[in-house]
Amino acid sequence: MIKMTIIGSSSMDLVVTASKRPNKGETILGESFKTVPGGKGANQAVAAARLGAEVYMVGCVGDDEFGEQIVNNFTSNGVFTTYVKPVTHSGTGTAHITLADGDNSIIVVKGANNYVTPDLVEKALGVIRESDIVLIQQEIPEETVEYVTEICFANDVPLLLNPAPARPISKTVIEKATYITPNEGEASVLFENKDIHEALKWFPNKLLVTEGKNGVRYYDGENEILVPAYPVDAVDTTGAGDTFNAAFAVAVAEGKSIEDSIRFANRAASLSVTKFGAQGGMPTREEVEGNL
Ligand code: ATP
Repeated sequence: MIKMTIIGSSSMDLVVTASKRPNKGETILGESFKTVPGGKGANQAVAAARLGAEVYMVGCVGDDEFGEQIVNNFTSNGVFTTYVKPVTHSGTGTAHITLADGDNSIIVVKGANNYVTPDLVEKALGVIRESDIVLIQQEIPEETVEYVTEICFANDVPLLLNPAPARPISKTVIEKATYITPNEGEASVLFENKDIHEALKWFPNKLLVTEGKNGVRYYDGENEILVPAYPVDAVDTTGAGDTFNAAFAVAVAEGKSIEDSIRFANRAASLSVTKFGAQGGMPTREEVEGNL
């Protein structure tokens, strides 16, 4: 069993469905409401645990009911919460999602995720050093991403940076991360709209660009390779990227080649889009292997 540390956000998604979006100043009646655990860090932690990794989450929740539900959700999915800190000066992060007209509008309140600081990461240094791979995303402060990159590099621990949501990243972070996994939009922010085929060549076997139902593109040092996605009837693509990142990290840490790891992760991600909710569709190991 491989050991993995995930440093990132945990939030509660508050999802309203309605026939339309309210105009400015308008009140309308919605159709349904539900709360589901989310946040890129938490989603990736749950996905990796379902695939059989020993997962340690490093994150923050508020000292409130959402925080409690998030911690319970980690525990019931087998994610270790020793380094999930409840903070008293901020509420749990929330994502306010309106589903209307076949599309979503989202307001994210980062809340406690602002407190995933280098100080908190330092407390988890022991488990980070013992990890086969570390995963990080960008819903937490930039200084934390920089700090984690430095300690992983110094301790020879592979680091997968999922640069989502998009923001420019320092050259040092790009150089020191082992894998970087933007989607196409994030890649164009990262490389300032430069030709993506050029950018892939600069970072062989490091830069993996996810292209939704097309699959994933990378450069192996000699050729650009597109590993195709698996065709499925997509129901809800929320969390596809999170499932991909967790599954790729599990597979590559287990010693699979980059191409085989992408194939495994594409399979896991394609299964995840056949069910509702980010975490709802995340498959188990048996489900992925049964479908390969
Ligand atoms: P999200 O933000 O929706 O979680 P993302 O934009 O980070 O996702 P995508 O590139 O859309 O990431 O998808 C990640 C991976 O999920 C793809 O590389 C592919 O393997 C799988 N995937 C996404 N959408 C589909 C789909 N419609 N059919 C099959 N596989 C899909």
